[in-house]
Amino acid sequence: MESFKDYNFSDEINSALDALKYHEPTKTQQACLHALLEGKDVAVEAQTGSGKTLAFGLTILQKLLDSQAHSQNEQAADSSHPHALVLCPTRELAEQVTYQLQLLARRIANTKILAVFGGVAIAPQLSSLKHPPAVIVGTPGRLMDIAMQGRLSFKGLKTLVLDEADRMLDMGFEDQVDWLLKAINDQAQGVQTLLFSATFGGNIQSLSAQYQKDAQTIQVDDGRTHQHIEQTAYKVLANRRAYAVAALLSEHQPESAIVFCQRKQEVVELHQQLQEDGFGVVQLQGDMEQFERSNAVLLFSADCANVLVATDVAARGLDIPSVDLVINYSISDDLDTHTHRVGRTGRAGLKGKAITLIDDTDETKLIGFNAQLPSDIPVKSGLALRFHKNRIREPQYVGVQIDAGKKQKISKGDILGALAKNAHVPAKDIGKIHVSSHRSFAAIKIRSVKRTLLMFRESKVKGKRLRAKKLV
Ligand code: ADP
Ligand code: MG
Repeated sequence: MESFKDYNFSDEINSALDALKYHEPTKTQQACLHALLEGKDVAVEAQTGSGKTLAFGLTILQKLLDSQAHSQNEQAADSSHPHALVLCPTRELAEQVTYQLQLLARRIANTKILAVFGGVAIAPQLSSLKHPPAVIVGTPGRLMDIAMQGRLSFKGLKTLVLDEADRMLDMGFEDQVDWLLKAINDQAQGVQTLLFSATFGGNIQSLSAQYQKDAQTIQVDDGRTHQHIEQTAYKVLANRRAYAVAALLSEHQPESAIVFCQRKQEVVELHQQLQEDGFGVVQLQGDMEQFERSNAVLLFSADCANVLVATDVAARGLDIPSVDLVINYSISDDLDTHTHRVGRTGRAGLKGKAITLIDDTDETKLIGFNAQLPSDIPVKSGLALRFHKNRIREPQYVGVQIDAGKKQKISKGDILGALAKNAHVPAKDIGKIHVSSHRSFAAIKIRSVKRTLLMFRESKVKGKRLRAKKLV
């Protein structure tokens, strides 16, 4: 396992990493950090959420510390010019990157990190420049405006980062980026130029050729690209969300689907509604008892329920096999959460589908996601969605709970044996069997449930009468 200790960062950086609880580098960071720290020009293509910000943040700040150490005896020659410049396509990203760099630089003296972007008055940004920042993070248009006014010099620049470079071009910033690069080339020498892009299988080489010389290109696929997941958004009225979910489930007929809600109460209500509609559905939210949660997960992963309605928190880290369909009852607040939700389908490269319901008030969140995704999530109208009760897919199995487990010396083999020999349940009617300390669980095809329950009532297993009941 690689650790950040392998990179010989300065103490200030190591303690910031500790404080931020970043223990091991992500796969993307492992793939590019060594090259970045060697001072090479590098172009990195890795998907959203893979930790690209930290990769270039560490590079910028370590170089800053190195040069501070060098210039301690000399006059701090470059201190009135930015040491590093990060170009970002949007204000939101500029602010986010600035924040992350500030956290990382907390223990480094004299590292002002400033965000500049358009859409707001330029004057306050100009006056912020009077106390010179070590790092400037900004959108190309505003940076160009400031530089053209002669308020920004690139003389001391050591690192230039083009973050979300592909997106920057998509958004029409090509001229501004070209202008800035030319200005930088005129004023500074030996600038390390780093380029980051999230478009998987995209045009990293051509981007690199456009902005770098002899750069090393690094492409990382850590399995979270989600390129094989078909994403759609449906625009619905806020009070028609539950109906839309039922309609989508009856249209797609998934064997397994997770519906993500933002709040516990939404989970409770949607679960009840879908149950009334006739779906095999379980819920997962924070107000449930531990045993209720375990039962829900068991029923869902044993195909005794097709639909799981859950909050993000309740579903986090759960080891649930890949599902056919993810529905976002409402869109999540941040792309990270969205990416995690969506990643529940299409695991291991299988095809998956993810549908996000939006209304007028949360459409802006989708626009924000699209700005960071390799391709936009298409939006359809939800008005035409219809729920067909006769198209509900039945769960494959019914869950049977047996009131004995390992503590009562019951094993999987005992249950299997009793089902086959005593109840004559054919092997193909027996699904997942799970034995915990005091209880056991067996997934049984509907047609064999009756004789299963009868068997437990009338005959003994391992010489003991065991109580069994349907688990719902
Ligand atoms: P990208 O720019 O590749 O889309 P970000 O740099 O925004 O991704 O990082 C995504 C998230 O991962 C952030 O919340 C960040 O704090 C977190 N992160 C980055 N590196 C690590 C790490 N080594 N360990 C844990 N979390 C990390
Ligand atoms: Mg990023």
